[in-house]
Amino acid sequence: MERIAIVGGGPGGLMLARLLQRHGKCPVVLERDQHAQERPQGGSLDMHGQTGQRAMEWAGLREAFTAAARPEDQGDRLYNAKGMLLFDRNEPADDRPEIDRSVLRQILLNSLTPGTVRWGQRITRIAREKSGFMVYGHGWSEQFDVVIGADGAWSCVRPLLSDAVPFYEGVTLVELGFDVNRHPRISQLTGNGKMLAVGDNRALITQKNGYGHIRGYAGIRLTESLAREWGSWPGESVRQTLQDAFAEWAPELRNVIETGDFIGVRPLYALPVRHSWKSQRGLTLLGDAAHLMSPFSGEGVNLALADAVELAEALTATHDWSLVSQHERTLCARAAVAAEGAAQGLKSVFSSTGVEHVLEHYRTRVHA
Ligand SMILES: Cc1cc2nc3c(=O)[nH]c(=O)nc-3n(C[C@H](O)[C@H](O)[C@H](O)COP(=O)(O)OP(=O)(O)OC[C@H]3O[C@@H](n4cnc5c(N)ncnc54)[C@H](O)[C@@H]3O)c2cc1C
Repeated sequence: MERIAIVGGGPGGLMLARLLQRHGKCPVVLERDQHAQERPQGGSLDMHGQTGQRAMEWAGLREAFTAAARPEDQGDRLYNAKGMLLFDRNEPADDRPEIDRSVLRQILLNSLTPGTVRWGQRITRIAREKSGFMVYGHGWSEQFDVVIGADGAWSCVRPLLSDAVPFYEGVTLVELGFDVNRHPRISQLTGNGKMLAVGDNRALITQKNGYGHIRGYAGIRLTESLAREWGSWPGESVRQTLQDAFAEWAPELRNVIETGDFIGVRPLYALPVRHSWKSQRGLTLLGDAAHLMSPFSGEGVNLALADAVELAEALTATHDWSLVSQHERTLCARAAVAAEGAAQGLKSVFSSTGVEHVLEHYRTRVHA
């Protein structure tokens, strides 16, 4: 039986493992985290019909998804920096139910044969051999016939296929956490879904998550070196600096920065739009490893899951790698559209006229 290594146990890698197992293959997932709860997994994700939801269907996980998803949390609110409410759609108007990232990961993990994920295995190097690949971790190595890079932004598989390196997009998000019970004002501000406040190259975002949580982000333009510096500061110093940067904003909005539990500093990186690579037998990429983009398209996880569906089909249909090559071309073309949108979305929001762009975008969506 073909030995398949999936490097990375994020949504894309786990979905691929699930689908391959349904086709009778026995992949292993090599994941650097020690266990599923090792680090905060990030906020709520909206799952799109033709990509994320379709993947859950193909994986036989529609029921588990529906039981855990929150269709009621698809609202959108937009404020300007003065705290004026410009747009409010507090209802589930789209078919894009939300699901917590950690819940999605757990559904996928529960669906796998026990032992599929090898936790605490950070891959340090991959070398092509006469037949197959040698995969190296700390103090061990193992041979595989096929290696799939599902290891996100800083993929260790990607350099074998492409010279592309993620570049900093000039914007950093500071992630904050809230508990609905302790923060009724933030809950009111957020409504049922996502609140975006935009003004002069800055933004505040709060988003309802499951289990009485709200995730928040303060977004600001920073140089890459300053973003790195912020990353090494204690949370209270980051908060103080943000308070100064948002000093002119309405008190109700500033409250987001003042009261949120500090989670971390997240500089936004992206791969060049239209990133692609020359296909190589036995080696491929999916998800952020293939097409990292800012979250301003809301497509990242959806693309990762869709990539997994098509890659699983290509890997199981025949031993001929040409189907995978064909899939890679489709994946790159589809991602290019989303990456263009994400780059444009980020540029629009973090501009002097950001609020007008977002308002226009929301109104167009309502009338679409
Ligand atoms: C703030 C923020 C908000 C977002 N919001 C949305 C949204 O609303 N909707 C949406 O669709 N997308 C959103 N995204 C994007 C989405 O999170 C990603 O596109 C998605 O997680 C990609 O999945 P993946 O499986 O490709 O990679 P990842 O989720 O990055 O998973 C990669 C996995 O590989 C592991 N790994 C990395 N290196 C190694 C190594 N060397 N060895 C072993 N394991 C390794 C990591 O630990 C991780 O578990 C958001 C992203 C951010 C930053």
